[in-house]
Amino acid sequence: MRRNKSFDGKSPLLYLIAVPIGNLKEMTPRALEVISECDLIASEDTRNTKALLSKFNIRKDVVSLREHNEVKASMDLIEKIKSGLKVAYMSDAGYPGISDPGKILVQKAKENGIVVSTISGSCAFINALTSSFLPSNRFYFHGFLNPVENKAKQELEDLKDRKETLIFYESPHRIDKTIMVLYKVLGNREATIARELTKINEEFIEGTLEELTHLDKETLIGEMVVIVSGNKEENKEIDESIILNELNILIESGMSKKDAIKEVSNKLKIAKNRVYDLANSIK
Ligand code: SAM
Repeated sequence: MRRNKSFDGKSPLLYLIAVPIGNLKEMTPRALEVISECDLIASEDTRNTKALLSKFNIRKDVVSLREHNEVKASMDLIEKIKSGLKVAYMSDAGYPGISDPGKILVQKAKENGIVVSTISGSCAFINALTSSFLPSNRFYFHGFLNPVENKAKQELEDLKDRKETLIFYESPHRIDKTIMVLYKVLGNREATIARELTKINEEFIEGTLEELTHLDKETLIGEMVVIVSGNKEENKEIDESIILNELNILIESGMSKKDAIKEVSNKLKIAKNRVYDLANSIK
């Protein structure tokens, strides 16, 4: 077990900084303050990070930590943090570690007794999910599907039965193929393409996956998140006698009919109105 306070000064600290996903006004005052106080910034793309910081008149040494050098660069940073330097890591957009490098750094830091504290900011899938029509209380974030179609299909087969809203990241040059694969494997579900979030061309395209396959590819430019409804098919194979038995056990144990209906519908993954009709047949 590990238990650490971020700001009691007892352990060395690594900051992770979430940066804007498009709109620079989403760079928070707290992020700017922490960056300004750092001795060294590590980032996914040093050029992009220097350009971002220069927009806020911040000049810092920036070193590279990206997918291809993450282990070695993480160990170098850890030594620097242990030697007393104040260090922050940021990726090109949004949160480090969310379809971006950063997770290995965090794990190595923790193995070395370094506390990791994240400075909040923008995250593409949170904006897409909260703005979409689809439920946001339970969701599954997948990130990018495998670019090889058969592998993407396999990934989708594995999550086809999930009830939660599904979230994917995609790039504009593959969006049409991805929508088609989603449609072929998951069927005709409700979906949203959230495009160019926080930017002037922000757009939400909502419809069924079949409708989305007809979109003109030329209009699908910029960055995109795809949100797809979870599996809404009910489990029709469950026999009435099993439902009634489950209901009886709960009601006889003292549970109200209303709560028993909810419990059984969740447990057996069947529509509440089917359980409700059966519950009303119990004398
Ligand atoms: N770390 C980022 C985060 O926290 O959201 C995600 C980085 S990932 C490499 C880039 C993908 O995020 C894009 O291909 C797109 O799917 C999504 N994305 C990033 N910025 C976006 C934006 N402004 N609008 C829509 N999607 C965006």
